[in-house]
Amino acid sequence: MRKFFRVIPILILAISAKAQVDEARIRVEKLCSPEFHGRGYVKGGDSIAAEYLASEYQKIGLKKFKAGYFQEFSFAVNTFPGEMKVVSEGHELIPGVDFIVDPACPAAHKDLKLVRLSVSVILNEKQLIDSLVKYKEDQSVGYILEGGKYGADTNKLMQQVSRDLTAVAPVFYETEEKFTWSVANSQTSNALIQLRPGLLSNSASVNIDAVLIKEHKARNVIAYIPGKKHNKKLVFTAHYDHLGRMGATTYFPGANDNASGTAMLLTMAEYFSKNKPEYDVCFIAFAGEEAGLIGSNYFVKHPMIKLKKIAFLINLDIMGSGEEGITVVNATVHPDQFEELKKINSELDLLSLVKERGPATNSDHYWFSEAGVPAIFIYTMGPNKHYHDVDDTYQELSFAAYEQITSLLIRFSEAVQY
Ligand SMILES: [Zn+2]
Repeated sequence: MRKFFRVIPILILAISAKAQVDEARIRVEKLCSPEFHGRGYVKGGDSIAAEYLASEYQKIGLKKFKAGYFQEFSFAVNTFPGEMKVVSEGHELIPGVDFIVDPACPAAHKDLKLVRLSVSVILNEKQLIDSLVKYKEDQSVGYILEGGKYGADTNKLMQQVSRDLTAVAPVFYETEEKFTWSVANSQTSNALIQLRPGLLSNSASVNIDAVLIKEHKARNVIAYIPGKKHNKKLVFTAHYDHLGRMGATTYFPGANDNASGTAMLLTMAEYFSKNKPEYDVCFIAFAGEEAGLIGSNYFVKHPMIKLKKIAFLINLDIMGSGEEGITVVNATVHPDQFEELKKINSELDLLSLVKERGPATNSDHYWFSEAGVPAIFIYTMGPNKHYHDVDDTYQELSFAAYEQITSLLIRFSEAVQY
């Protein structure tokens, strides 16, 4: 009998699966649209996303905690709200495509004479020091660290030196590696710009606006669905923030990271709003993840639900593909639950692979694990390699395993709660 009852929700879900993915697509496209400004720190992007999520919670019928849907906190963040211009010999470089600024880059408005430092100079301490001494007094000098195809160790060294040199002058670091942007909470003394090799001549004019916000206010968006019993909770989490804008015209949409997981959190909320769970199910959309897991850290320090009552937590981050299955972080910490996931996956013939991974500090599950809450973090694997770049767009998402993952999560939710 029990088996029979368990099949019903799966059937309902299968019928509504297409509608579910369509709805997720609409939500992801919205979260990635220019009006959300990359859900970061310029033009209130993350705040606009928080309001949108609260309105979706309301529509779905999620319950508020006493304090409401929001949990506010603040942190320091470096932002790029205005000009983002690098011009060399009349050629204007394209932000995000030709170059990215280091997240800790300060404002810079300068015409620079450029001094090239080849890899052989970098590797020779004496030559490097000689070059630096030579231009020590010249305020108009910037350095270019010449890019090339070096080994991993040399690349690492070049990166380190480029960072160190910002103590004395603006630095351009030529690289053919993929641009991967992030968020900083402080500024360096001088600008650091990563760019494609061969774009600069012997001079460049740089106009970059940067503002270090000491107390940026952000909000976690939290709600729940009451179950039949309240002594245990199942928690779904996903961060909704991303990197925001790098200048007035360039933004990072963050489709896979993590509009996709945010949409899946809402899909799960919708499911449980129509199918009353055995125990309470909570939903936390975190802010400040990209700035250093700040929203989840704040929640764990100021929990709106007793951490001890959390039977299990599932963090969803990067859920937009899945052609090659999913990876489960903390699988080795919770082997029974991981086995259950694999069992359900093969029973229902859902994903090509449910891959085991040990603990990692790479998303919001981390602080919960540290606090002793049983938690896993699931991410999808597939051909989409866009990550923290301007090409992580809605159009690039396949949603290849979206239905399969939600089916897996629903069945797993039942198993883990009983
Ligand atoms: Zn993420």
